[in-house]
Amino acid sequence: MKISSNERYSRQVLFTAIGPEGQEHLARGRVAVVGCGATGSALVNLLARSGVGFLRVIDRDYVEPSNLQRQVLFDEADAAESLPKAIAAARKIRSFNSDIVVEERVADLAPENCSELLSGVDLILDGTDNFQTRYLINDYAVANLIPWIYTAAVGSYGVAMNILPGETACLACVFPESPHGTVETCDTSGILNSAVNLMASIAATEAIKFLVGAREAMRRTLLSWDVWRNESSEVKGGRPTPACRCCGQKVFVHLAGEGRPHITLCGRNSVQIHEQHRPVNFSELSGRLAPHGLVKHNDFVLKFWREPYEMTLFPDGRAIIKGTTDTAIARSLYARFVGS
Ligand SMILES: [Zn+2]
Repeated sequence: MKISSNERYSRQVLFTAIGPEGQEHLARGRVAVVGCGATGSALVNLLARSGVGFLRVIDRDYVEPSNLQRQVLFDEADAAESLPKAIAAARKIRSFNSDIVVEERVADLAPENCSELLSGVDLILDGTDNFQTRYLINDYAVANLIPWIYTAAVGSYGVAMNILPGETACLACVFPESPHGTVETCDTSGILNSAVNLMASIAATEAIKFLVGAREAMRRTLLSWDVWRNESSEVKGGRPTPACRCCGQKVFVHLAGEGRPHITLCGRNSVQIHEQHRPVNFSELSGRLAPHGLVKHNDFVLKFWREPYEMTLFPDGRAIIKGTTDTAIARSLYARFVGS
């Protein structure tokens, strides 16, 4: 059924700050969303329904049953198939808005693919769950003068901040160092779906303001909100700091890839191997792996179970190995069954 734009967006156009002209701006808007877990799903869902004309959905992971509590774009069939989140998200978006263009990218954002994945958009949104990727986005955005919106949620608490390069403080102005070591994550502290959807709603609204040209209406503070304790606060972000390594010194260490390991911990009890140049033939590999454990594959992922480990392999050779936090074990499993 073809739905006219007039009909589809009629209630949004009635909102005078958007109106017909704002709706046209949204249709021309181009947005990249990095990470399509809970925050990313909610962001993409809202922006796709609002009629943002182009959405690039970048995610490195696949759908699991424990995602369904909060990741609004996925259903049980996606988890049963272990579909990559970018693929499942694009399918779902096309089912409710076939007017817009969705570009699904199953990839781990890294210094070497940053310009390919983040170029050609007006705005970058943060749907990630880690500071390493956020600093990379921040470097790329500040270096290329592309606005981005930082969004995070854990437990019952979330934060959001707009970063308008040259105009407002960036992530490195506010947090010069990554708070690694003691960071709470969804894997350790749990998460309320309402907290993450609240922060995503706030970030999506800021994105819409930006895309329709209502820049003066955008928030200039770091906002935090706890839905359980009923606490909220705003800290003035201010202007770009001259002492900031990004804004002031123009030193982009994360973009340069300094200190980035080849293997990283990825959630609780799993390790990611960042191969990107080892195209894998799933049918052929399935045949080789079958004598060593249970193996299943579809067009997008191959899963291999060898107790107590579970390996998920993507077509470019990237792998997520569950059941260990020992990078040496992960590397040796990968070398043994995929290649060294
Ligand atoms: Zn800065």
